[in-house]
Amino acid sequence: MFEVEYRLNGRKVTANQLGDALQQQAVAAAADEVKRKVSTMLCREHSRAAKIVVNSSPRSEARLTVEGCCDEFIGQVTRALS
Ligand SMILES: [Zn+2]
Repeated sequence: MFEVEYRLNGRKVTANQLGDALQQQAVAAAADEVKRKVSTMLCREHSRAAKIVVNSSPRSEARLTVEGCCDEFIGQVTRALS
């Protein structure tokens, strides 16, 4: 299943623990965009969905990392997001 994971300074957190309200809003917007674009994508080879990791740290923009079953699928999802 498609999954979004949040990390703050490399530590796994819930969306509510992501800094202040503004930051939470920015991260939520980024995650929504990701869901819209890739939540229905499945690896053709392994029938697995991707996991998107939203990396957040204070005073910087959230960065997205794609994790998945194989490099090819990760590449596909990454391209869909860019
Ligand atoms: Zn795969």
